[in-house]
Amino acid sequence: MANQFKAPHFHDEDAARAWFESARWPDGPVCPNCGSLKHYATKKAGRYRCAEKECRKDFTVQTKSIMERSHASLTQWAAAFHLYAASKKGFTATQLQRHLGCQYNTAWFLHHRVMEAMRRGGLDLPPMGGPGRPVEVDEAYHGNVKNRRPSPQRGSRPFTKGGKVGVGGKRVIISLLDRENKNVRSFHVPTADAETVARLVRENVHKESRLHTDESKLYISVGKEFAAHETVVHAAKEYARGDVTTNTVEGYFSIFKRGMRGNYQHCAEKNLHRYLAEFDFRYNTRNITDGERAALAVRGGEGKRLTYRQPH
Ligand SMILES: [Zn+2]
Repeated sequence: MANQFKAPHFHDEDAARAWFESARWPDGPVCPNCGSLKHYATKKAGRYRCAEKECRKDFTVQTKSIMERSHASLTQWAAAFHLYAASKKGFTATQLQRHLGCQYNTAWFLHHRVMEAMRRGGLDLPPMGGPGRPVEVDEAYHGNVKNRRPSPQRGSRPFTKGGKVGVGGKRVIISLLDRENKNVRSFHVPTADAETVARLVRENVHKESRLHTDESKLYISVGKEFAAHETVVHAAKEYARGDVTTNTVEGYFSIFKRGMRGNYQHCAEKNLHRYLAEFDFRYNTRNITDGERAALAVRGGEGKRLTYRQPH
């Protein structure tokens, strides 16, 4: 990894600006206020003035993006985008701080914003699957929730499993995976109930797809809305029958869990969706180079601004 940081855009602000401009605007600067391609250069490098009569606003590559109102240098931003794009397991704010040799607050700021940029990664979201195409759906449980859900069967005490925290006390992740293009979408949901699952599947999957799940009751009802709903019976140790399987989505879960174990032990529940998005993004872009992935994330950061409070 050290070698790739020899490129000029990691050391030189002008080179970094040029890199961000070509990532965000492959066809030249676009006014973020009105979308016009017509602009003038100003005396300040990297600052443009919209040539549209009604607009005339000044902008830079940071305007209306997750990089707006940041004190970090563009070389720091470039390094952060590359590190997150290249890492297989994700990156923590502390690791980023060490790498950049910056203040923790700066690293924390960059960390959350780059993750947010990866959330969509410039990819739009058409329905998954299509006529005859298998879409795997499965749920996973990760980490404990702060306030455990009371169980109606246990007189409002929390769910348990063999005296331990049961699934009612775990954070629930639902992932949908289009097996043809190996594209995944993951969601952190408050509870794994049929209604929640049905909504996610309905909103994301093409109706003519074949839904592949395990035997869980969660999918029975919504499964009827699709061209086919085929299941494998995990209880009977059945993992694949013909091309019916949930192995691909389970493979995704194991990548996620491995990554989270190594790096994100203290991931707050409210941030789980961002970590999921980061893993989804890396998984969905695994066939492009780290540099292309970083550029894609920059485009994903367009029009986004976060209003996080600093940690301290
Ligand atoms: Zn404009």
